[in-house]
Amino acid sequence: MKVLVTGGAGFIGSNLARAMLAAGSFEEVRVLDDLSTGYAENLTGLDVAFTEGSILDMAALERVADGVDSIVHLAAIPSVPRSVANPRASHDANATGTLNVLEAARATGVEQVIVASSSSVYGSNPTLPKNEDDWTRPLSPYAVSKLATEGYAIAYQASYGLKTLPFRFFNVYGPGQAAGHAYAAVVPKFIDAALSGQALEIHGDGRQSRDFTFVADVCRVIMSAVSRRLSHPGPVNLAFNTNTTLLELISELEAQLGETVAKEFTDPRVGDVRASQADSLLLRELFPDVTPLPLADGLSATLAWY
Ligand code: NAD
Repeated sequence: MKVLVTGGAGFIGSNLARAMLAAGSFEEVRVLDDLSTGYAENLTGLDVAFTEGSILDMAALERVADGVDSIVHLAAIPSVPRSVANPRASHDANATGTLNVLEAARATGVEQVIVASSSSVYGSNPTLPKNEDDWTRPLSPYAVSKLATEGYAIAYQASYGLKTLPFRFFNVYGPGQAAGHAYAAVVPKFIDAALSGQALEIHGDGRQSRDFTFVADVCRVIMSAVSRRLSHPGPVNLAFNTNTTLLELISELEAQLGETVAKEFTDPRVGDVRASQADSLLLRELFPDVTPLPLADGLSATLAWY
């Protein structure tokens, strides 16, 4: 089985490449990444065929897609605030980029394409937990671009018979998630601040909640989907119906570090949703063997990586 991972030098992609190689059942793992937010060092020591290049370059895409059975498409500008600052760049990388990946798959005869969408597509819909059939109302250009990502994947299944599977990731965290940039995700940002003795910046009152998902669980789901060449005619939530507020996350972090941390409350961020929790019935039906790691264990594994 030969697989191409776009965005494979990033956080989720490099964890996935490592897990695929460790599983031993994947004959070849290729990575295409422009290193805009990913790092070549994430792939150090891994037997992957790495190409530095962009999904906006059709020729490069077709070269690396040629001969693979599946593409796991993770490459994107993965940030709500970055999309608010630069909506066109988000659209180009995430929406047009996905169209390019699907076109390359079609041109080269790839059987399956898995794409990364996001819980942000639910936007201002207050229903909890979020079911895949709930209406979507994006609050940020990022969320729109992810709705386009999954929409294209679904349309390519309907229009061309390509096996596609759009996952809606929620808040994925774990080893390898970069903290050192302005748009870092909340778990590495908090850990980084706590370990360097700085105050943890909390946007709003800290009672906003998230469905934190450990990266190894995400990788196991994706590998199972690739192995079975699974497709689905609609989006699938990839989170396990948990609900943790930022204040609870900080308490858990304090418990593991054995000390309290300083907190600084600032204004809520534009485009952020208040509460996010996945209905995971469909996920559990499609992947009955995947049991998620509890947050305390996932945080401890993440802290061990630092
Ligand atoms: P990441 O930034 O670590 O990974 C994204 C990778 O894509 C990076 O390595 C980056 O260099 C690469 N990339 C960006 N633009 C590219 C381009 N034009 N051509 C080639 N490569 C390009 O982020 P991540 O957290 O690993 O996210 C992976 C995917 O999952 C993204 O599509 C993201 O939108 C989605 N997602 C992530 C989360 C999360 O909690 N981490 C939540 C929802 C959705």
